[in-house]
Amino acid sequence: MVFTPPRWVPKLEHDTIPDSIPVSHFMLDEKYGRSKLRGCKSPFVCGLSGTEYTALEVKQRVDFLARGLAKDLDWSPNQGSEWDKVITIFAHNTLDSIPLSWAVHNLSGISSPANSAYSVSELTYQMKSSGSKAIFTCISMLETALKAATSCGIPRKHVYILGMVYDRQLGYMQGADIKTVDQLISEGAHLPSLEPLRWKKGQGAQQCAFLIYSSGTTGLPKGVMVSHMNVIANVLQLAAFEARERRPGLHKVVLGLLPQSHIYGLVAVYHAGIYRGDSVVVVPKFEILVLANAIARFKINVLFVVPPVIIQMINSKHMLDKLDLSSVTEVFSGAAPLGAEIHQALLAQYPSWYIRQGYGMTETATVISATSTRDIFPGSVGNLLPGVEARIVSHVDGSDITQCGVAGELLLRSPSVTNLGYLNNDHDTLETFGTEGDRWLRTGDEAMFLQSPNSDGNESEHLFIVDRIKELIKVNGYQVPPAELEACLLKHPLISDAAVIPVPDITAGEVPKAFVVLAPHDRGQFFQTPSEVAEEIDEYVRREKAHYKWLKGGVEFVNVIPKSPSGKILRRILRDAERAKERQQ
Ligand code: AMP
Repeated sequence: MVFTPPRWVPKLEHDTIPDSIPVSHFMLDEKYGRSKLRGCKSPFVCGLSGTEYTALEVKQRVDFLARGLAKDLDWSPNQGSEWDKVITIFAHNTLDSIPLSWAVHNLSGISSPANSAYSVSELTYQMKSSGSKAIFTCISMLETALKAATSCGIPRKHVYILGMVYDRQLGYMQGADIKTVDQLISEGAHLPSLEPLRWKKGQGAQQCAFLIYSSGTTGLPKGVMVSHMNVIANVLQLAAFEARERRPGLHKVVLGLLPQSHIYGLVAVYHAGIYRGDSVVVVPKFEILVLANAIARFKINVLFVVPPVIIQMINSKHMLDKLDLSSVTEVFSGAAPLGAEIHQALLAQYPSWYIRQGYGMTETATVISATSTRDIFPGSVGNLLPGVEARIVSHVDGSDITQCGVAGELLLRSPSVTNLGYLNNDHDTLETFGTEGDRWLRTGDEAMFLQSPNSDGNESEHLFIVDRIKELIKVNGYQVPPAELEACLLKHPLISDAAVIPVPDITAGEVPKAFVVLAPHDRGQFFQTPSEVAEEIDEYVRREKAHYKWLKGGVEFVNVIPKSPSGKILRRILRDAERAKERQQ
């Protein structure tokens, strides 16, 4: 049985989605996509300094930046493969990161954003895998970027600083001897215009716009090839869904706190928001006081957040009560489950706010379902967006589940599903995205639909994410692939085998816990007690991995890791045992 959006959700015909233009043209040029960017006073506002760019300035910066890049990197819009024109953006949220991606799109290139917490080895892995030719970073992360660039053979002159960067101690600073994006823009202003892009019909559906890393249902992070059409489709799906929520012409001020490197921030906030004519207040990273001050100062209406931010808002009630948050009308949570209790606790604190939830994944670029303000069902991820089809299938035999209220694996079809697949990984592409004639995306999430009336009195199917079947761990909404941590642990001389699973965490949602088999001859050789060994392992992971991948769930020593006859780690056994232990406590 195929579930489709309720009748009240506006339709979106696939053949009306532009598939022959880059995202940049769709966003910046009204003639292509009816983008409301022009009607917006300031699409980008810096949440720290208050610096803003007008719509005209954004367009000009993108154009000049593309000219500057073309000269510096020797790229031209209509020559060479897009895979020879890949850049990595390794930065906190900045005003220029999205315009930079659009400039790269104007050269028919690919933007590959990387998590700003990455260590040198994590960044190097992504840059090597993507074949990046240049890297853009912030002053505070320059050292890591330079080391990764060296390992990938990228010359220092192709390492750039994203504008000015704010440092708590030093204030605003320019980027030493490294060229800044501002410099590229100034140089570009004196260069001739670029030749217009000549794209073939359908090229937008075939060409990668963003290469974003996700482990999907299993294994190590893989480059998800998000096409130009995928991004445009999701922007239009969200615009159609949201059309009921807003008076025509009403622009909002929205919070740009979610990382620009994660698909949720990138597409749902920056692209969909700016397309609707919203101003996005860019906040580099999460600190509750910075966030609250930005809300009060810029009169932010909509907060796009992950559940841990909501938990912090609840825990910081006394501090927040002293600030004026009266501009806020809506909170939109995604990237991880928002339980009904947390929803109700925030609602009790701010009874007039609409607390909405969306569901999606990198491979669906991005939002597949969302709650509408008229139809909020705490704990549910809402209704399907226009153009989305869903199936729920049994884990046991893959047969379709046709009743509401029965859970199974969620399969999806949508014009935003990234059917170009994973870069250089046909096996996982086939497993996840299906075959040509049977293209249903396997989400690896356990879900069900429940039917209930909405505030208009109409019955509507609400989607609930019940559990995660896939291996992935989500810490503060970020992906932590167990296979990546296990591979890291196995390189430690004290460890002969390892498995990593998620355990619940009150603030981060979940955190990784490692089960470790020690190499027999090494035990006690250098460390006296098991807790010293555990400490060494913990510190080792801290040295190697981004902070959200650290083993905050602890290290437990076991004699053997449960495995299938083919050698696959049976993490489910460890997870079920851990859950049973929690229930007993
Ligand atoms: P990512 O590719 O990093 O966006 O991760 C996608 C995964 O995050 C999904 O497959 C889900 O497991 C989880 N996820 C995203 N949104 C939600 C939500 N609202 N509720 C529960 N899980 C979610």
